[in-house]
Amino acid sequence: MDLPRIFTLRESSHRIHNPFTADKLAVLGGALRLEPGTRVLDLACGSGELLCTWARDHGVTGTGVDISTAFVARARARAAELGVADRVGFVHGDAAGHVAPEPVDLAACVGATWIGGGVAGTVELLARSVRRGALMLIGEPYWRREPPDREAAEACHVGDASELRSAAGLIEQFGELGYDVVEMVLADEESWDRYRAAQWLNLRRWLDAHPDDALAAEVRHELATAPARYARYEREYVGWGVFALMAR
Ligand code: SAH
Repeated sequence: MDLPRIFTLRESSHRIHNPFTADKLAVLGGALRLEPGTRVLDLACGSGELLCTWARDHGVTGTGVDISTAFVARARARAAELGVADRVGFVHGDAAGHVAPEPVDLAACVGATWIGGGVAGTVELLARSVRRGALMLIGEPYWRREPPDREAAEACHVGDASELRSAAGLIEQFGELGYDVVEMVLADEESWDRYRAAQWLNLRRWLDAHPDDALAAEVRHELATAPARYARYEREYVGWGVFALMAR
């Protein structure tokens, strides 16, 4: 059970595996006015940057769960580096169906709502781990502009345009699920670039060092096509944000 290798190659330099910069992650942590000792569960935590930096900056404690052995190892190293290894821990495993043993104050799924089969299922999954009055964080893409056709949607890594809503539509969906949206921090084109453009140098360096690897041809093709495709489509059409929710 592991994340396919191409993902860890693309994002080998990333601490945040989504279109947020360190600044935006810090803005979100500040906006939530977290009390020291806040207990956090982060499903699909990636390299653990949310938990580690919020433990350092706000004194939160908690657990991250992720299916990537490489990312979990980096999350543990980051916790040690920031001196918070006594406050945060990381579990390698499938986050689908994962429920905290004790109710937490904040449950998050940032950029991985497929673990619950979509937004609604992930909200339900997180709800099983939280106390009353807890915060929930959902990181999710949305259409900044509707793509004109299927080709454009696919170039945005979305199979069909109907798979995403607008930002307003997503916020309304949270309302229909019985939640108030109490905060949000949104990506922008420059934070998207830090996520996507940073992948290209990772891939190029890797390709130069591993020209005979089984993935080399795929990586070569991606390097030749992904930058223009990204500039034409995803950067223009896809928004992304983290929405903070509280049950009504
Ligand atoms: N929340 C992190 C990572 C987002 S990227 C961040 O914002 O940086 C998506 C993550 O989901 C990856 O780390 C990937 O390994 C993880 N993932 C994918 N499927 C998963 C599953 N079934 N269970 C746990 N983690 C999963």
